[in-house]
Amino acid sequence: MQLNSKIEEIFTRLPESRKKAIKKIGIQTISDLLYYFPARYSDTDEIKNTKNVKKGDKIIIYAKVKRIKPTKAYYKKITMTEAILEDSEGIIQAVWFRQPYIAKMLPEGTFAKFSGTISERSGKPYLANPEYEITNDVASGLFKKESDNHFLIPIYPESRGVSSQWIYHSLQKVLVSKLFEELKDPIPKEILKKYNLPSLKTALIWIHSPKKQSNTLSARKRFAFEEIFFIQILRQKQKKEFQQLPSFKIKKTKEEIEKLINSFPFKLTKAQEKSIRQILKDISGNYPMSRLLEGDVGSGKTAVAAAISSAVVTTKPNKQNFGNLQVAYMSPTEVLSKQLFESFIQYFSDMNINIGLITSSGCKKFPSKTDRKNWTNISRPQLLKWVANGEIPILIGTHSLIQNSVKFKDLACVIIDEQHKFGTNQRMKITRKNGVTPHLLSMTATPIPRTLALTIYGDLDLTLLDQMPTGRKPVITEIVTPAKRERTYETIRKELKASRQMYVVCPRIDEPDPDKANTLRVKSVKAEAKRLKEKIFPEYEIDILHGKMKPTDKEITMKAFEDGEIDILVSTSVIEVGVNVPNATTIIIEGAERFGLAQLHQLRGRVLRSNHQSYCYIFSDTKAQQTLDRLKAIKTAKNGFELAELDLMLRGSGELSGKKQWGISDLGMEAIKNIKMVEAARTEAKEIIEKDFKLEKFPLIKKCLEKTEIHFE
Ligand code: ADP
Ligand code: MG
Repeated sequence: MQLNSKIEEIFTRLPESRKKAIKKIGIQTISDLLYYFPARYSDTDEIKNTKNVKKGDKIIIYAKVKRIKPTKAYYKKITMTEAILEDSEGIIQAVWFRQPYIAKMLPEGTFAKFSGTISERSGKPYLANPEYEITNDVASGLFKKESDNHFLIPIYPESRGVSSQWIYHSLQKVLVSKLFEELKDPIPKEILKKYNLPSLKTALIWIHSPKKQSNTLSARKRFAFEEIFFIQILRQKQKKEFQQLPSFKIKKTKEEIEKLINSFPFKLTKAQEKSIRQILKDISGNYPMSRLLEGDVGSGKTAVAAAISSAVVTTKPNKQNFGNLQVAYMSPTEVLSKQLFESFIQYFSDMNINIGLITSSGCKKFPSKTDRKNWTNISRPQLLKWVANGEIPILIGTHSLIQNSVKFKDLACVIIDEQHKFGTNQRMKITRKNGVTPHLLSMTATPIPRTLALTIYGDLDLTLLDQMPTGRKPVITEIVTPAKRERTYETIRKELKASRQMYVVCPRIDEPDPDKANTLRVKSVKAEAKRLKEKIFPEYEIDILHGKMKPTDKEITMKAFEDGEIDILVSTSVIEVGVNVPNATTIIIEGAERFGLAQLHQLRGRVLRSNHQSYCYIFSDTKAQQTLDRLKAIKTAKNGFELAELDLMLRGSGELSGKKQWGISDLGMEAIKNIKMVEAARTEAKEIIEKDFKLEKFPLIKKCLEKTEIHFE
C-alpha cells in the first residue's frame, strides 16, 4: 500500500457500484481517503434497536432480514420492496419505494446494518428507504452494541453506494498501516506552534480515531485552518502575479473628475462618490486594478460602473491622439444585460459613444445609423468586427463576452456585474485576454460575511457601498403565516388598484411529480400563477417568468412587465439578480423557509427601486419556531451584510452549501465562522507570499497549492 495507491488496488473485489460511488465523492487514492473527514461523531443514542422507535427518529440498527418481497402500492402503482427486520429486541417493517431490486440484494436471512428515518403508516412505525450495508458477520453486527466501544465513532458523509461504515473500516486499515507517517506536513512548524495546532500525523489520528472530544476539536481546527490557509496562499499569489502585469494608465484631471461626479441626474451618495474616486485612483496606478464593489441591491452600483466606463472610454490609447480605450461589461443574464445596455444608452446619450450588446440570442448596437436616438439589431460578425477595430468602445453582454471570438482593440477595463454568478476562472479568463491587462471591477449585491469575502475574494481589494440613495423608504416587511394569507391578499389588492405591480416568487417551476413519494409540496410558478388568476386576482393580468424559458420569451415578458402590461409577475428566483422595474412595489415570497436570509434580502431588493412605499410579504407554511425566528431577522437587520453574518451563524453547515457555492468544505466553513482563524490564515499567507511569491523556499506549500488550484477550476 502506498499513499498514492488507487483504492480499488488496495481494497480488491469492490462491487462496480461502490467503485463508482467512491470516485464520485472524490476518493481515488489512499491519501484522498485519509483526507475524507467525518461529518460528525456518533452520539450513542442514534444507534438503537427496534424497540421504542417513534416517527421522525433517525436510527441505525443491526438486524436480520426475516422476510422480504417486492410489491406494488395499490393506490399509485409504485413498485416497492417491503421487509421485516429482526434484531435482538424485536421486529420492524422496512419499505423501499421504487427499488424492487432490493429483495434480490438482501435475501431472507441476511444480516445488515440499516440506517434511516422512522415513518408511520396507520399508527405503525416503519423504516422508510433505509440505507443498508450487509455485515454478514454476526459478531460485529447483530449483537454487539457499538456504544460499548469507548471510542467516539466517526460518521462520514455517505452517498449512495458508500456507507459511513465502509469508509470507517477502510480507514482503520489504512491507519494501522502507519502509511500516513510518510505524509509531510505542508504547514510550517512555526505556524503550527504559534496557533497551537496539531501536526498532520496527530491530526489525522485524532480526526479518524479520536480518544476524546477534545482530540476531534483540535484536529478539525487544524484542517479547517489548513484549508483556509491554502486558499489564502492561492489568492495572495494570484494578486501578486496580477500586479506584475502591464495595464493602461487612465489619468483624469481634477476638473474632469468633478465633471464625472456631477454628470448624473441625481446627487451621488457619499459612498458612491468615494468609490468612484478610489477606483479612479486605482486605474491611474502602475498595475491593473482588481477591486470588488460590494453593495446592497439598490445602492447604485451601476452609476459607479457608468462613471468608470466614462473615464475609460474618454481616454485615448497609449501614445495615440485618436480612438478610445474600451470597456467590457459582463452580466449574468440576458434580461440584465439588456437593462444595462438601456441604462448606458441613457447615460452616454450626449457623448457620441457607440455601445454594443452581445448575448447568445443576438447583438445590438447604439446608435442606429438611421435613427441616432435608438439602437438597432446587427449581426454578430459585424459587431465583432467593430469591437475588434475599436469602433465600439463599450461592449455589454452575458457569458458570450468571454468567448474567444470576441477580440478587443484596446480593452482597458472589465466590469463584472453580480460577480458571484461567475467563477474565479471566468473572471481570470476575461482579464487575461491580450497583451495589456485590463483593470477589473467586480460588483456584487450578494452580501457575504466578511470572513468569507476575505477568503474567496482574497485577491481583490474591497470597497463597500454601504449607503442607500436618499429618499428611499425601507421596504415594509411582513412574515405571513397561513392564517393571515387571505387578509394579506386584500391588503395587496389596494396597491394593485393604485396601478402598482407585484412580483410573486416561488421556489419551483412546475408542480412536483404527483407520483413521487415525499416530494416537498412547495409552490410552483405555473400552478401558483393559475391559482392567483382563478381564485385571487382574476381582474389582473398575470404572467410567468422562469429560467427554463427561451431567452426571447423572457425578454418579451420582462418588457411587458416593464411597460405595465402585466400586473403580477410570478417567477422563480431568476428575478433575484438586478431586475429594475420601479413601479413594482410589492413582492410575495412563497416557501420562504427554502431561501437563505441573504437571498431573501436580495429578492426584497427588487421592490426597492423607487421612492414609492414598497412591501415584502414573506409567506411561510412552517410551524417550526426556529425557522420563524430566523425569518424574523429579515425585519430587524439593518443591511445585507448583517443578514449574511446571521445566515452563517444560524444555518447548519450543510445548509450553507459552502461547497456548492464557494468551493469550501463544511469543515472550512467552520473556520469561516471564526474571524480570528481567518485573519490568522490570511496574515500567515500574506507573509509567505510577501517573502517569496514563487514559493521557491516552500516546495511543500507549492505542491499542495496545485491541489487547491485544481479544486477551484
Ligand atoms: P444596484 O446597486 O442594485 O445595481 P442600481 O445601480 O440598479 O442598483 O440602482 C438602483 C436605482 O437607483 C436605479 O434606478 C438608479 O438610477 C438609482 N440611483 C442610483 N444612485 C442614485 C442616487 N445617488 N440617487 C438617486 N437614485 C439613484
Ligand atoms: Mg445592479
